[in-house]
Amino acid sequence: MVFNKVSKLVAAALLSTPCFLFAQESIAPKPKPHVLVISVNGMEMDVLRPLLLEGKLPNLMSVIKRGVYGKLRTVSAPNCPRVFSTIFTSTSPEEDGVTGFIVGGVTANTNMLKEEPIWSILSKNHVTVGMANVPATFPVMPVDGYMVSGMLTRGKNCEDGVLCAPKLSETFGGDSVYPAPLKTELIKNVGDYYVDCERMPGAQDLAGHESEVINAWLQKVDLIRSQQTKLFDYLLSNHPKDFTWLGQSCEDRTGHWLYPIAPYNAGYNPKINAVREDAFPSQYIAFDKVLGSILKHVDDNTYVFIVSDHGIKPLREFEDMNMPMNMHMDHEKTTPVIAKHDFADGDEVPGSFFAMGPDIKHDDRLMGLEASVYDIAPTILHLYGIQQPSQMHGHVLTQIFETSEKNLAQK
Ligand SMILES: [Zn+2]
Repeated sequence: MVFNKVSKLVAAALLSTPCFLFAQESIAPKPKPHVLVISVNGMEMDVLRPLLLEGKLPNLMSVIKRGVYGKLRTVSAPNCPRVFSTIFTSTSPEEDGVTGFIVGGVTANTNMLKEEPIWSILSKNHVTVGMANVPATFPVMPVDGYMVSGMLTRGKNCEDGVLCAPKLSETFGGDSVYPAPLKTELIKNVGDYYVDCERMPGAQDLAGHESEVINAWLQKVDLIRSQQTKLFDYLLSNHPKDFTWLGQSCEDRTGHWLYPIAPYNAGYNPKINAVREDAFPSQYIAFDKVLGSILKHVDDNTYVFIVSDHGIKPLREFEDMNMPMNMHMDHEKTTPVIAKHDFADGDEVPGSFFAMGPDIKHDDRLMGLEASVYDIAPTILHLYGIQQPSQMHGHVLTQIFETSEKNLAQK
């Protein structure tokens, strides 16, 4: 637990020394770039592409036109905590300690991290950090800024913290907001919002009430997304930071059980799958509006990264026959799942990557799987001129910059 010691040192520095706050003034460095990461769980290009062609994702299209996009290679058997912890640390799930939703019988949490995450490295290097609704960041940790946890936060009716939606005031079992007074401020100004997306209904809840349950669930998702949009807008307006990371997770959750599959697909049930064929694509149309709201806070000197931990695809019979049926039950509980992402070969469900910024290429595409979830942290550290720690396996995505040689020389 080397990292825990580091974490305590960061906490001590933040709490005890006012000079930490004045470090920037005394050293008088050149202005730091602004970096904004927006993560979307399970963003699937197969579903995004037709929507882009139809003109239904104008904000994402504007990022594509002004930047670089492509697939993002993920880890094997990808799921949310497993991949996000790799994005945080640029180390493998086995090395960073967060190998899945449940690790040694305990829900994935930040106390398990054995490698230093990016928010800690940035804070130590005097880059101010703001993180909200990012999965697998509970309990929150001290940073030079703020941290508000997202998916996998424990709370009322969400005792295990897995895929459920406690309200901010109902979280327990660890801190959901750093610094603590920000929690009261958020409840006052944003409202007592739902920290994560809604848990998927079980088979028993659905039986005989399919349409009603599906529509009610989707309405709750709309409510949660509108609350989270308000949260992001409030934080970006009132607590601007050098580095900000905002997360969305309802899209993946919807895809698992409402992916628009055909009758020949595994698990097709017309009582469920013919009710709202628009449900999953509509999540990305709704996300695009969230993105539009976030982009209002972005100026020409801000780097924007939109990243996904993995994609999501309909079930395939041949793969499932070789897989224990309970392999992803801790994720999906008893919901009749028709799409998933924890395929043994992660290359079948790559994530996605979009970037734009001051010296990032325009209207350019990354081919194949040349960019990986391991590369996100090194690339962000590079933008701040921070040396990549030796344990990180990824590399700086020099190919996305107009003048990669110049950028590397600044390092
Ligand atoms: Zn999922």
